[in-house]
Amino acid sequence: MKTIFEKDKNLNSKPFYLNENDFIEENKRTLELNLPNMSELEVMRHYKELSDRNFCIEKGFYPLGSCTMKYNPRVNEEISSYEGFLNLHPNQDDADCQGALEVIYDLENLLKIITGMDAITLQPCAGAHGEFCAMNIVKKYFEVKGEKNRKKVLIPDSAHGTNPMSAKMNGFDCVEIKSNSDGLVDVEEIKKAVSEYGDEIAAIMMTNPNTLGLFEENILEISDILHKNGSLLYYDGANLNAIMGHTNPKLMGFDLVHLNLHKTFSTPHGGGGPGSGPVGVIKELEEFLPNPRVHFDGEVYSRKNDYKNSIGKVSTYFGDFSVYIKALCYILMLGKNLKDVSSDAVLCANYMKEKLKKYYKLYYDKICMHEFVLSGDIQKQKGVSTLQIAKRLMDSSFHPPTVYFPLIVHEAIMIEPTESENKEVLDRFIDEMIKIAKEVEENPQSFENYPQKTPVKRADETLAARHLDIKYDFSNK
Ligand SMILES: *Cc1c(COP(=O)(O)O)cnc(C)c1O
Repeated sequence: MKTIFEKDKNLNSKPFYLNENDFIEENKRTLELNLPNMSELEVMRHYKELSDRNFCIEKGFYPLGSCTMKYNPRVNEEISSYEGFLNLHPNQDDADCQGALEVIYDLENLLKIITGMDAITLQPCAGAHGEFCAMNIVKKYFEVKGEKNRKKVLIPDSAHGTNPMSAKMNGFDCVEIKSNSDGLVDVEEIKKAVSEYGDEIAAIMMTNPNTLGLFEENILEISDILHKNGSLLYYDGANLNAIMGHTNPKLMGFDLVHLNLHKTFSTPHGGGGPGSGPVGVIKELEEFLPNPRVHFDGEVYSRKNDYKNSIGKVSTYFGDFSVYIKALCYILMLGKNLKDVSSDAVLCANYMKEKLKKYYKLYYDKICMHEFVLSGDIQKQKGVSTLQIAKRLMDSSFHPPTVYFPLIVHEAIMIEPTESENKEVLDRFIDEMIKIAKEVEENPQSFENYPQKTPVKRADETLAARHLDIKYDFSNK
């Protein structure tokens, strides 16, 4: 497909809608403006063609594990674009934005109920940003307490890469905790780390269910050991979709959590945003949250900078406000049925896992939560890698699952169906995966040539990583 500049037949002519005489001299451009000279219809066709090349949930099944690519009801988009929200400026007086402050206040309260935490900040703009904010709170908490040697953070080997990064960026050293043969955090390893490092341990960062989609059954024992050691427990809430209304991080013994509103609560994601990664904390950590917060005296909402040991701000104003509106609508719309979201997500994942485990290696064969991780090891022995299976899937009507994550599973294929798909879709995907397993048996060579139907075939990934080239070069015109 040509770029819009290549489609323009007369690049250097001035676009007809700009009249030089409309501008005062000092505001006039001194350089040529490279705008394509096209009709509105041509522009519309160009962008429609581009958008048709995207894969999206409205086009097909999108089982990207760890990402929760579920369908987000359109009504929430519509409400978040109401003019009263859209045209509000955060510098307006409290009196002008009572409704927006109420949205923030109500969402925080609902997220407190869902997580069991005592206070929430909505400021962080992504999961990783929430992790950073929370680990900053951990750091400040121990500074204020005078426990300055707590410099170590325990992180399971199944953790998302952002966990060690968030710890490191706050000056902590990471200690890796090995998983056991059940795919769970090994309690003996925790005990070993505690006896080795003792009061150097600031916190553990855990995901539950973990990134293998397995529930950490020993979480109460783990939280007990760490609390007795004076350490904090941080909950990576990216997998909250599996447990809503059934249990919560507080019941598991966690002290801080982050959530991904763009995974669990009705904001589409990908393409870099907008996202939101609220952080929840227990009472003892509330004073460290970012300022400002919203108060309600029973009649009026107001903003105050009154967290006395606040880590400061992590976003401009309150963060990604439009995402809060969608999350609030989603939670209010579902009410107590939010529990069914998680039940259905777990049911869908277990159904697929049971059907596919006869064809792909399943290292941890037990009941899973909202996602599961297969391995392409059997196929790899026949000469077909997980990457080639993913490329083959690109020629079907499905988005490939997450591959090569988590790192502890060879040739990992991580599937998260979400609750929003029906059985017919799940069955079609299962059939496709079985078909692929059979193709591997019969004709492994054919996998060298996929994808064939996509606009770009096989990108040279090494070249793309080393010589990133995403700019259009006008000098070639
Ligand atoms: C997605 C994810 C994150 C990071 O969230 P972002 O919003 O992408 O920054 C952290 N941990 C886990 C387990 C995740 O799946």
